Amino acid sequence: MNWLTNFVKPKLSALVKRKEVPENLWNNCPKCGNMIHHKDLKENFQVCTSCNYHFRMSADNRIDFLFDKENKIEIALDNITDDPLKFTDSKKYKDRLKEYRKKTKRNDAFILMESRLENREVVCGMMNFEFMGGSMGRAVGSAIVKGAKIAVEKKLPFIIFTSSGGARMQEGIISLMQMPRSVAAVELLNQNNIPYIVVLTEPTTGGVTASFAMLGDITIAEQGSTIGFAGKRVIQDTIREELPIDFQKAEYLKDHGMVDIVVHRKELKKTLVNILDHLK
Ligand SMILES: [Zn+2]
Repeated sequence: MNWLTNFVKPKLSALVKRKEVPENLWNNCPKCGNMIHHKDLKENFQVCTSCNYHFRMSADNRIDFLFDKENKIEIALDNITDDPLKFTDSKKYKDRLKEYRKKTKRNDAFILMESRLENREVVCGMMNFEFMGGSMGRAVGSAIVKGAKIAVEKKLPFIIFTSSGGARMQEGIISLMQMPRSVAAVELLNQNNIPYIVVLTEPTTGGVTASFAMLGDITIAEQGSTIGFAGKRVIQDTIREELPIDFQKAEYLKDHGMVDIVVHRKELKKTLVNILDHLK
C-alpha cells in the first residue's frame, strides 16, 4: 500500500483531467442541418423534429419501439460453424465475428422473435445493421428459414424488417446461396398461405433487395429510406445517364410499383396492426 499512489495520485489526476462529456449529445440532421438533442430525437422515434428525416434506427431500438417488454420472446439462432472459407481480409473473419458479437451482444445480423404486436401474435425477424452492416451470410439465411418454419407451424404471419448492405463478402459464394435459400423460405410461406410482410428500412441494398426483401405479400417502406441493388453511382457510370435525385428512395419505388406503402415511422406500428387485422 502506498499512500502517494493510492490516494494522492488519483486525487491529483482527477483535478487535472478534463471532465468527460458524454459524446453525441447532439445529432446533426443530414437533410436540413439542424442540431437535435439526442433526447428529442429518441422521443421522436429517431426522426428529425424539423424536416422529418428518418435517422437509421438500431434493431434494439426498433424492438423497444414496436414491442412491449413482456411481449417479445427472442428465438435463439441455430449454431453454425463460423468462417467456412477461412477468410481473411485486413482481419480474420473469425476475429471480426468475435468483435461484433461482443459489441452487439448478438450472434449474427438477424434477430428472430416470436412476439405480440399490440396483442397480435407474429413471428418477427429484424435485420441488425450494427452487426457487420446487416450483411447476409449463412446464419442470416438459416434464421429466415427457421422463422418461416415456425410461422408455418404456428400459423402466424411473418414480418421481416430489413436493413442490410447485402451479402456477406467474407462468406463468398455461400453468402450468395442465401438468396435462393431465403426465396425458398418465402415460397414455403406462400404454399401454406402464411402472410409475409416486409418492412424496408434505411438502407436495404444488394443481395437482400435481390431476394426475400422484394417478395412480401405486402411491402412497406419507411419514409426516405434507401432501397436498391447496386449503388446509384455504379448504375450511372454503367448506363451513362443522369438518374433522378430521389432514385432508390422509398417514395420513388412506390411510384414505380415496387413498394405498397410508404410510412412515417410514427405510423409504422399502426399500419402493421391494420394490415394484420385485415389479413385475419
Ligand atoms: Zn432535419
